[in-house]
Amino acid sequence: MGSTLRGAHWDGHKLCIMVEKVVEATLKLRIKRLTGASHGLLVFCEKCARRFSEALSNPEPEFEVYPKLTCKLCDLRLAKERNELTKGCEAFLWEYPQRNDEAYSELAHILQIRDFADLDPTPAHYYLAFLVREGLISELVTTNYDCNLERA
Ligand SMILES: [Zn+2]
Repeated sequence: MGSTLRGAHWDGHKLCIMVEKVVEATLKLRIKRLTGASHGLLVFCEKCARRFSEALSNPEPEFEVYPKLTCKLCDLRLAKERNELTKGCEAFLWEYPQRNDEAYSELAHILQIRDFADLDPTPAHYYLAFLVREGLISELVTTNYDCNLERA
């Protein structure tokens, strides 16, 4: 999380930022789908109407707000509140008009995945690399393998 991008501060690899990007993109697709077809009046819960008030006002679809309801935006609101990136990504892939490689490419574009290859290693990455170089460790097991270890 402390990595910079090409020497400059970058937040694109922080979980909350990634969730925000994917939820925002998914919200646009979902509102477009919900308002595009011949649906009746849209109904959202109070929490979602408040959380997504900006997205729901530009352009403003006709909708009503009911306080105690699970609405068609609740999954996105909860993904954002709970920092659930996988749920946000899954929702995006379901909402994307074409369910093929294009959807995955667009998701990677939204999340700026290409930039992850240019993140700068932190001192921790270099110390791990030094240990390997000096033969003090021969294997490194991690659940978070990344390009920074390679570069270091
Ligand atoms: Zn809701």
